[in-house]
Amino acid sequence: MTARLFPLFADLRDRPVLVVGGGAVAARKVAALLAAGASVRVGVPELEPGLQALADSRQIVHRAGRFQSWWLDSVWLVVAATDDAAVNRSVAEAATIRRLLVNVVDDAELSSFQVPAVVERGPLQIAISSGGAAPMLARRLREQLETQLDESLGALATLLARQRERIRARLPNLSMRRRWFDRLLDGPVPGLLRQQQSAKAEAILLDTLENIREAKSTGSVALVGAGPGDPGLLTLRALRLLNQADVILHDRLISKEVLALARRDAEFIEVGKESGNHHTTQNRIHELLLEFARAGRRVVRLKGGDSFVFGRGGEELEFLRAHDVPYEVVPGITAALACAAYAGVPLTHREHAQSVRLLTAHCQSSIDGLDWRALAQERQTLAVYMGVAELEQLRANLLKHGRAADTPFALIENGSRPEQRVIVGTLDRLPELARRHSVISPALLILGEVAALAERLHWFGPAPLVADADHALHTFADAA
Ligand code: SAH
Repeated sequence: MTARLFPLFADLRDRPVLVVGGGAVAARKVAALLAAGASVRVGVPELEPGLQALADSRQIVHRAGRFQSWWLDSVWLVVAATDDAAVNRSVAEAATIRRLLVNVVDDAELSSFQVPAVVERGPLQIAISSGGAAPMLARRLREQLETQLDESLGALATLLARQRERIRARLPNLSMRRRWFDRLLDGPVPGLLRQQQSAKAEAILLDTLENIREAKSTGSVALVGAGPGDPGLLTLRALRLLNQADVILHDRLISKEVLALARRDAEFIEVGKESGNHHTTQNRIHELLLEFARAGRRVVRLKGGDSFVFGRGGEELEFLRAHDVPYEVVPGITAALACAAYAGVPLTHREHAQSVRLLTAHCQSSIDGLDWRALAQERQTLAVYMGVAELEQLRANLLKHGRAADTPFALIENGSRPEQRVIVGTLDRLPELARRHSVISPALLILGEVAALAERLHWFGPAPLVADADHALHTFADAA
């Protein structure tokens, strides 16, 4: 077996450490050493301005001139970070003779210790090393961990440190302590810390310590917006929750690319009223949420776009609140924002539109309930959800209340997905064009002066389809 590096976390508080070199790389090492409380000496003929400022305020000591071996007197650790290989080598050799651990930046051969890539969450540190073999890989891994590990882990580590004595006293037996700890992590405490409710989190922790017997894991529900389909539009928080979920109740519209990012062994349940085969009513969804949460499971209720925009998220929360189920809400990118972005249609524009309205027109009663006079005003943008089947009434009402017949529209089908299509035209021909092109759900209508910009600003997928005078459709690229 080839020897590997021995990982260790060193306590350098008030301990002298020598950094040879004064450039940007040295400055980064100095900053990390200062953060660990080390007493840093920097050896270099001349300090760069940042380091000079530290020397002026006595946070570091400057050893001026060329490297001399007495600089190593009384130090615990050495870093060579000059851009001169010969100097780095002589520092490494002098340090090794004195049995000091030395790191030569970017030179595993000369180094007797390596500085890992680090992910930090409060007192918690995760150090990654490839043993000098592939620093890029370690860095990449660090980036991945950064996205996956919640910031609240730091608060959790701090809380546990504060209660450490009490926890040990109450649970002297290691295996009991472990079981208690597992339950704690599966319970509401981490979630409360994330929600900045640290007093409540601490109270619950203390309570579970007092009542060890009854402690029973409580489930929770996260109402998560999955965005329009492109998995790149998920939030970090959504991704983390999908990684931890025991059960995922998702709408039919959620893209498979998004579902592929979730924990593999989670239970996936497709719900949603639009689904033809499984007609899951809203009440049934409520029941399922309650059932799973009561069984102590971490439930993610995953909805297309944002849960609070035509997503019935409010109803689900009211139900959860009434049944005392802990919940949180993660916003998602709603279809109007996503479709606008992916079609190159700015929803507002200094010259064309000063306001945006999100509305739905999916059945006669919702259409009749709208304030058409207000909706027909110029210089505003309408983003119409679920409207594909109701375009005739939409046009009739808008024209009747004074919106110009040549108001531009962009109809975006499957926005942000590989199969995205955009059809542009004017209000007077909206239903005909949608029909001619067999637009299907999900599609979002953007109506207003800004919609015309799609022809110039589009960037995603095929160019928008436009109609010429005799209603023949062709792509904008063909027309140009
Ligand atoms: N909560 C969702 C909306 C649910 S209503 C959100 O915030 O986006 C469903 C309607 O949203 C669809 O009929 C369609 O109008 C729109 N929609 C959702 N995803 C879409 C997509 N990828 N492209 C176009 N429209 C979409």
